[in-house]
Amino acid sequence: MNDSTLYLVKLGEISLKGLNRDFFEKRLKINLKNKLKGYRTQVSKQKGRIFFEISNDCPKETIERAFSTTFGVVGYSRCLRCEKDMEQIKQTARLLIEDAPFSSGKGSFKSISKRADKQFTFTSYDIDCELGGVVLDTYPEMHVDVKHPDMIITCEIRDKAYLYTSAKPGPGGLPVTSAGKGMLLLSGGIDSPVAAYRMAQRGLKMECIYFHAYPYTSDQALEKVKTLASLLAPYLQGTRLHVVPFTEAQLWIKQHSPEDETTLMFRASMMKVANKISVQQEGLCIVTGEAMSQVASQTLESLSFTDSMSDQVVMRPLVGMDKQEIMDLAKKIGTYETSILPYEDCCVIFSPRHPLVRPDKNIVTEHYHAMGIEALLDEAVANTEVFDFGPDGQLR
Ligand code: ATP
Ligand code: MG
Repeated sequence: MNDSTLYLVKLGEISLKGLNRDFFEKRLKINLKNKLKGYRTQVSKQKGRIFFEISNDCPKETIERAFSTTFGVVGYSRCLRCEKDMEQIKQTARLLIEDAPFSSGKGSFKSISKRADKQFTFTSYDIDCELGGVVLDTYPEMHVDVKHPDMIITCEIRDKAYLYTSAKPGPGGLPVTSAGKGMLLLSGGIDSPVAAYRMAQRGLKMECIYFHAYPYTSDQALEKVKTLASLLAPYLQGTRLHVVPFTEAQLWIKQHSPEDETTLMFRASMMKVANKISVQQEGLCIVTGEAMSQVASQTLESLSFTDSMSDQVVMRPLVGMDKQEIMDLAKKIGTYETSILPYEDCCVIFSPRHPLVRPDKNIVTEHYHAMGIEALLDEAVANTEVFDFGPDGQLR
């Protein structure tokens, strides 16, 4: 394709896979192609690399967004390809460094050459020297720094020679859906979007479930959760948000359980509902943003109780993380600013003044069953509203 640009995608953990490597690579290709839908793309695979040739009518931002939000991509770069001939390699290098980051003509650089094809007559060191020569001829003010270079020019000798400069980092991990599907309990807080990111990085596809207690929680709280779902959607390759009307269930719990146990009963009911929706949607696990001892409902005893209310395995990827670490990651993935908007979540409004911190599992389990809440939970599931977000983050 003449009217196209070549991109090199570096794979990390996927390249370490054995017989099932093909399965992961295929999934990564599908996920990237989904994000580049509507544009002509041609894909070719080589050890540890996938090459994407993308038609030039595709905006650069769309390409950057696709590579930087797709798990499985460890790094990516625009790339030039030529025959395995030293003169052609040098000529291609000259073309490549006309553009950023080299075009400033200042600072330090390093050349890195890799020979996947060992038949090539020149050694990596020879190629490095030739490339270095090209850079210094073009930009005499630049200098070589092998330890801390400002920029890097790379040449990989494969079926052809591939040249690129300073690859950008991708999010790493494994491609979404390779691990299967689960249900994320998405509140409006800081933690649950980060939990989603962490599990998506391990290849888990997720649909989101939000428990909405209107009018105790406002429409603005729901809007905030929708915004979070749309921010997560590119990482999740698109997602469905299930909004569960939870007011009746919360009021029932308030009337029918001891005050200090209400939060535990909310959480047990959430688990029950999440399991029902997960079975409907063919999910295999529940994901939450809980962290050990963060609040009363996340002590070991409380977690043991809520865990026992779920038939499906409960994933808590933040369980061993510090709040500061979680906040730093939320900032990095771009959900923090939305999460700190001040609209309260249902649990905050219904929370008891002195929640039970170390519940006896047998006693609270008995209390849960004595409440007779199942019919209300079924009704909540039946009245659940869904919103679908595409991999571009747009509501469909
Ligand atoms: P977050 O944990 O997302 O910052 P939070 O700390 O206010 O919010 P917690 O009370 O700690 O929420 O709840 C722990 C976890 O339970 C959340 O991370 C989320 O997975 C789930 N959760 C809480 N409230 C809701 C809700 N209204 N809808 C869906 N999931 C919820
Ligand atoms: Mg929390």
